[in-house]
Amino acid sequence: MKLGQRIASIELYAQPGAAEPAYQPVLLWDDNGATLVDTGNVGQMDQLTKAVQDAGLQLSDIQRIIITHQDIDHVGNLAALTKVFPEIEVWAHPDDIPYITGAKRIIKMTDGRLSHMPEEARNPILALFGQLPSIRISRELQDGETLNIHGGMRVIHTPGHTPGHICLYLPEEKLLLAADELRVVDGELVGPAEAFTPDMKEAVRSMHKLAGLPLDEVFCYHGGLYDKHPAARIAELIQSLEQQ
Ligand SMILES: [Zn+2]
Repeated sequence: MKLGQRIASIELYAQPGAAEPAYQPVLLWDDNGATLVDTGNVGQMDQLTKAVQDAGLQLSDIQRIIITHQDIDHVGNLAALTKVFPEIEVWAHPDDIPYITGAKRIIKMTDGRLSHMPEEARNPILALFGQLPSIRISRELQDGETLNIHGGMRVIHTPGHTPGHICLYLPEEKLLLAADELRVVDGELVGPAEAFTPDMKEAVRSMHKLAGLPLDEVFCYHGGLYDKHPAARIAELIQSLEQQ
């Protein structure tokens, strides 16, 4: 789906024929080349390749990948991509880098959770753990910095869902890429999934950094686009989450 001038969502489905995409990376391109924000879940390279082509680009056009956070459904195809295209840069927040490079185990992929998975789900994840140490990080993203992407993309560090979770803000488009800090569920903008957010209080504190941004649209990795007065909705959401 087109999100703006030279910005498109990459729709990835958990199963063939699913009604809604489960994961939605974002592809942006400008005179500095193409940027992919997140990479989908493990084993989705074919879907990713096709979706990038549908957006009018090729995987080989991608110059950099921004990883919003360490979770498996965001780093799932990172090693596969950098294996085929070793020159692709990988950018992430330092608080999640040790997990993205395999120096530490991805926080939510505990032995307990892995042992409850069917083998066909677990094996590709274990294979990815073996590949992550090959990831070289080209750039550490800091809170508040402006990246030379799409006329200036601002990094907003929003810990809680993971320690190094970031959102990305595009002032020219008044568009927030919220990653997993916000979701769209049944058409409504809501907070991160509590079951997968180890520090919910911190995640709500992080939401204050999003309040007050001039916003026309929020795009969530899970649930996609929200464009019904998002700034007012975020303020309302903070209030209701803080009362819980
Ligand atoms: Zn996610």
